[in-house]
Amino acid sequence: MISDLVVNISILMAFTFIWHELFRNNRLTFNSPLSIKILDGLIAGILGIVLMHYSIQVNDITILDLRHIPVILVAFFGGFIPTIISSIVISIGRFLIDFNFSSIVSLFMMLTIAVGSSLIVHKIKLSPWKLWVTLIIYSQAIFSLALYIVSENYVQVLVYAFYHVISAFFGGILTFYFVLYIRRNTELYLKYKESARRDSLTGLYNVRSFAYYYNQFLSKAIKDNSECAICLVDVDFFKKINDTYGHHSGDEVLKQLASLLTKLTREGDIVSRNGGEEFSILLQDCTIEQVKDIAERIRETVENYPFILPDYRKINLTVSVGVANYHNKISKPDMLFQEADHALYNAKQSGRNLVCMYTSGAPI
Ligand code: GH3
Ligand code: MG
Ligand code: MG
Repeated sequence: MISDLVVNISILMAFTFIWHELFRNNRLTFNSPLSIKILDGLIAGILGIVLMHYSIQVNDITILDLRHIPVILVAFFGGFIPTIISSIVISIGRFLIDFNFSSIVSLFMMLTIAVGSSLIVHKIKLSPWKLWVTLIIYSQAIFSLALYIVSENYVQVLVYAFYHVISAFFGGILTFYFVLYIRRNTELYLKYKESARRDSLTGLYNVRSFAYYYNQFLSKAIKDNSECAICLVDVDFFKKINDTYGHHSGDEVLKQLASLLTKLTREGDIVSRNGGEEFSILLQDCTIEQVKDIAERIRETVENYPFILPDYRKINLTVSVGVANYHNKISKPDMLFQEADHALYNAKQSGRNLVCMYTSGAPI
């Protein structure tokens, strides 16, 4: 009995773990798209069927299984749609084992558990653990009632119900603890992974992400025989802003400039802070004219934009922009960054507040 119980709970945990790993980026929530809700409902249903096939043997005629745990699990995380789907799949699985009065009762039992669990989750506001225990109690009560209906030997029902309640509580609580634990770890992992790609001050991509996307953009341009471009944006005389208004104000200006750059670029362009007061924009499928337009728009908008300091004073600043474009017939891919850097240097040398384009053949 104990070993059967352990096997059933182990299946529940192992299956839940694989399920979570496969969908770690698409975890089921109330806001998940319909396709994810349907998919999770189907998977929970399959888990229920697997559990039915590895039942806990209490004696020769009595078996226990935890098929209702996956149903209340998707009710807890995803609401009505996955719950009802899982209960239907489990009922079909039950009919495939045998078609009799017991499997018809099982169908009504699963539907009652599904509808009731969804209502409990929607209507009753409880802490996660209290809600989960409520779901176990509810589903268990329905399961025991179904058992009572199909059984003629009430002493046997009592024995069955007793073991079933114990295993459902033990398995249910262990599974929920496990699911909460792996979900929380995944959320933290994804959060830290994302923050490792970002610059902490501005929220833009950091220089490591820039290097990654730079290689990606160039590889794609080479493979597709298309164009890509890069803008390097450097604030003019930024040291003076720090010296005049303080480092904290300088930080505030960098944040506002970062959000301005994001607004002025196209969706899919990669805006990064490459360090200090230097930013970059990577542009896929971008002709020389397009990148020039974007760079000029950035320069002009920044020039006219009132940057607001923490003490609400407004200041103006300018940027210099170096632009280079990769086109397989004309340029060498490994020189794109150096070309943009060279163009930026020219913009600075030519008086700042300028956009300079790297012209092919110019010495670097
Ligand atoms: P140029 O027009 O030639 O680019 O002059 P500049 O003053 O902008 O350039 P310079 O390289 O001389 O100075 C850059 C300054 O940026 C110096 C440094 O203190 C400041 N800086 C770098 N990182 C940060 C930061 O995260 N926050 C703030 N507030 N300042 C920073
Ligand atoms: Mg500068
Ligand atoms: Mg600089």
